[in-house]
Amino acid sequence: MSHIKGWTLFLDRDGVINRRLPGDYVKIWPQFEFLPGVLPAIAAFSPLFKHIIVVTNQQGIGKRLMDEAQLADIHRRLKETVAAAGGRIDAIYFCPHLSADNCTCRKPNPGMALQAQVDFPDIDFTKSVMAGDTASDIQFGLNLDMTTACIGNEDTAPGRRIIASIAWLIWRKLG
Ligand SMILES: [Mg+2]
Ligand SMILES: [Zn+2]
Repeated sequence: MSHIKGWTLFLDRDGVINRRLPGDYVKIWPQFEFLPGVLPAIAAFSPLFKHIIVVTNQQGIGKRLMDEAQLADIHRRLKETVAAAGGRIDAIYFCPHLSADNCTCRKPNPGMALQAQVDFPDIDFTKSVMAGDTASDIQFGLNLDMTTACIGNEDTAPGRRIIASIAWLIWRKLG
């Protein structure tokens, strides 16, 4: 699949990489639980995609349940753990705002992807996959003319579902 080397993979975080905490937020690293199969999935994708970028709404900051330093610590450890498993995450973007703030960066608004394109000017949204578990993730991808992969329910091996759905999308687009 060397012909997808120019592509970018955008990943949602909660419910895709780690288990969601219903009604709560992951505020400290011990609350961050990788979903089954995700670390090997990211390792498998890492040589195939030019960029791998996480985009995550973190309203818990806007609600003052956690702060940006706590989130930065979680994301540093997330990147380190992915790297130790043989994968890579090139950048993580987050929206700290409340949904009521009507900001431009909270998914499904495109701000985080536009910032990623400022930081990585060779990102082409028509050569990008957005993998997420909610309608707002998919709308975010569609707003940017990305290929979208909805991985659905988090409780059954999302890593394998991410691999299967993205491999199918790429095959359909490029095969
Ligand atoms: Mg999610
Ligand atoms: Zn925002």
